[in-house]
Amino acid sequence: MEVCCQLPVLPLDRPVPQHVLSRRGAISFSSSSALFGCPNPRQLSQRRGAISYDSSDQTALYIRMLANSEIEVSVSARNVRRLLSFQRYLRSSRFFRGITVPNSSNILDDDYNGQAKCMLEKVGNWNFDIFLFDRLTNGNSLVSLTFHLFNLHGLIEHFQLDTMKLRRFLVMVQEDYHSQNPYHNAVHAADVTQAMHCYLKEPKLSESLTPWDVLLSLIAAATHDLDHPGVNQPFLIKTNHYLATLYKNTSVLENHHWRSAVGLLRESGLFAHMSLENRQLMESQIGDLILATDISQQNEYLSMFRSHLDRGDLCLEDANHRHFILQMALKCADICNPCRTWELSKQWSEKVTEEFFHQGDIEKKYHLGVSPLCDRQTETIANIQIGFMTYLVEPLFAEWARFSNTRLSQTMLGHLGLNKASWKGVQREQSGGGEDADPAFEEMDSDILPQEPRLS
Ligand SMILES: [Zn+2]
Repeated sequence: MEVCCQLPVLPLDRPVPQHVLSRRGAISFSSSSALFGCPNPRQLSQRRGAISYDSSDQTALYIRMLANSEIEVSVSARNVRRLLSFQRYLRSSRFFRGITVPNSSNILDDDYNGQAKCMLEKVGNWNFDIFLFDRLTNGNSLVSLTFHLFNLHGLIEHFQLDTMKLRRFLVMVQEDYHSQNPYHNAVHAADVTQAMHCYLKEPKLSESLTPWDVLLSLIAAATHDLDHPGVNQPFLIKTNHYLATLYKNTSVLENHHWRSAVGLLRESGLFAHMSLENRQLMESQIGDLILATDISQQNEYLSMFRSHLDRGDLCLEDANHRHFILQMALKCADICNPCRTWELSKQWSEKVTEEFFHQGDIEKKYHLGVSPLCDRQTETIANIQIGFMTYLVEPLFAEWARFSNTRLSQTMLGHLGLNKASWKGVQREQSGGGEDADPAFEEMDSDILPQEPRLS
């Protein structure tokens, strides 16, 4: 908290993340709680903290949301209590109470059992089973894995990080993911972070990346879906969610993930020993990475990537080019599920579809119009996956393999092909043959893509 006092106020166009409010003020709420019942404007105005915040404007936003939203007035207060209880439950976990880590050479504390420790030795393997790792760490995969990677990459030593602050920062990050989301939860974040680590190890990157690049990449990967409400941007817009208003209906979720990450970085004081200039640069560059995961921008990033590869002009000694490649790497990490082994990939497919269908169920219940791919009566996992692979994953990973033509890239493309064939087999069984990829993906329109079909 003291760190915030040393920082300038946030510019007006950069809203304060809800964490900053909830951790300092009298009320704790998540964006999903706002989905089921609005935060109390009076309580919001009671929050306090070092970051300047125009409470009257924000309160007006909430009031407008209350006035306009069908959902907020329709759902019982019971749901609100349930969500708030959930947050309290999380905050009472033993991790949050604080576990000190004496030094970076002794990071494997009692929370790891032998098997989890063993798994971390192979954290760079593409077939790393994040689901198993999450079970072995009692649901603390994101904290355990990211802490380990910070140590493995020498970041703790290089940036002279306080390991207790690092642990607390990671615990806050993990706890700000919604574990009730079938897909967009801390395990997805851990999976993306593990994939990012695999990409950072690729020769072209490992030869050129600086510790600063690695630091930003891991933080961005771990926080890229922070506080995800489990519904997509079009849903937030059509329900007049305050985040949609706050971010003017543009990259609403990604902006929220980024600003939430900034809030936690400041609150943790993890980089309080760095210059203000460097901290601001870090916040801005993490934002560039997270915002790149907005699937509605996929075509722009992809054509830029393709142009660079066609011209052969990528120069990784250039910090801007490295930064661009890290954006592409994070995009790949975010939608790499279909490039994993069938056993892992299938589980992710089921989870993301469950989240889509849950959104569809809410939309049906409140007559909001069911979003594409979210109707459990008409959609199937196989159709959704085949469309996702065809229109989003294959084009991206084909370019990535041009950039980094390694064994890992070939492995990923191999799994992608096999998994697509498996889903086609399922599709044939279900339909009697002949169905193509889901046409909803063809339009590549942010308004039509469910739940960031980046699946993230
Ligand atoms: Zn994601």
